[in-house]
Amino acid sequence: MVARRTFGSLAEDYKDVVVATVCSHSSLQIFHGAKQEGFRTLGIAIGKQPRFYDAFPLARPDEFLIVNSYKEIADHADDLVARQVVAVPHGSFVEYLGAENFAKLRLPTFGNRSVLAWESDREKQREWLTSAGVPMPKKIARPEDIDSPVFVKYYGAKGGRGSFIAKNHDEFMAAIKPGMKYAIQEYVVGTRYYLQFFYSPIADGGYRLSRGALEMLGIDRRDEANIDEMYKLGAQERLRELEIYPTFVVTGNMPVVLRESLLPKAFDMGERTVEKSLELFGGTIGPFCLETIVTDRLEFKVFEISSRIVAGTNIFVSGSPYSDLLEPGMSTGRRIAREIRTAQKRGLLSEILT
Ligand code: AMP
Repeated sequence: MVARRTFGSLAEDYKDVVVATVCSHSSLQIFHGAKQEGFRTLGIAIGKQPRFYDAFPLARPDEFLIVNSYKEIADHADDLVARQVVAVPHGSFVEYLGAENFAKLRLPTFGNRSVLAWESDREKQREWLTSAGVPMPKKIARPEDIDSPVFVKYYGAKGGRGSFIAKNHDEFMAAIKPGMKYAIQEYVVGTRYYLQFFYSPIADGGYRLSRGALEMLGIDRRDEANIDEMYKLGAQERLRELEIYPTFVVTGNMPVVLRESLLPKAFDMGERTVEKSLELFGGTIGPFCLETIVTDRLEFKVFEISSRIVAGTNIFVSGSPYSDLLEPGMSTGRRIAREIRTAQKRGLLSEILT
């Protein structure tokens, strides 16, 4: 197993952990789950204290830290450690602070930060998943090779912004933004399922892996700004003439369940992803999401992995059709807090924090 470089040990002296995250993305669920597990909570807000928590008292953080920019969070690291903070990353926290800055944050953080190097680089992400035997959409090496519909995406979690479909080199050239790193994949026709897993290296029951256990906490699908509804307006060529372009900007999420006969395949992919991550970089710890398309041949293609809590889990604040069969009312936010609590009681915090 690969060693984890860690600031997690800073939490070993904590008597009273405070769960903190940035006030966005899935923060309501993270704070709510932490409170359910008896933790105090701290919200890191950019600019000013957000009012919307007043509308959701069960998820309102106990304290706030107001900073002027994401970058400024690092300046408060010592103070946050003194306040016994464990930071919980989410997509906005990592994307806006920057994966490199996040990796260097001198603050005990839930999960394994080594995953960032593998996840934020689309080539490495592909290496991880395909070497694990997880099926992905084919990669198109060069724009000149495009001869059927492809999906083009930029690096990092952009919430679908900027991604586009091209059917040939000309369409690619017309849409690509210069100077940005991108990846080209085969366009897979099928239905999207976002499989929300949780890997615990310290669990000793359930769906066992070589170390710990794998849980499925929910499945969602994303509402994407106008692409999902665009078919109502007719053929894409005609739309382009009208200068209407499809976008994949995520606007919300909806719950879905998978055909039960596909669950073994889903778990097999989850298991392979975790086992390979243990081998490559010490494990993707806590929540992760395999973003998949299921074709009409009932085959999965994983087009992306998110190695932390995804916003699609927000649907399941009071449990999902899957997590209810583990423990009723278990959200991903609460599951994170439970993991911190269990690890603390058993003296295993260094296993789940970096
Ligand atoms: P991503 O930027 O990878 O999160 O993708 C944003 C959205 O693009 C997804 O939610 C899907 O709707 C779509 N998408 C991504 N990759 C593919 C693909 N290879 N084939 C078809 N659609 C895709």
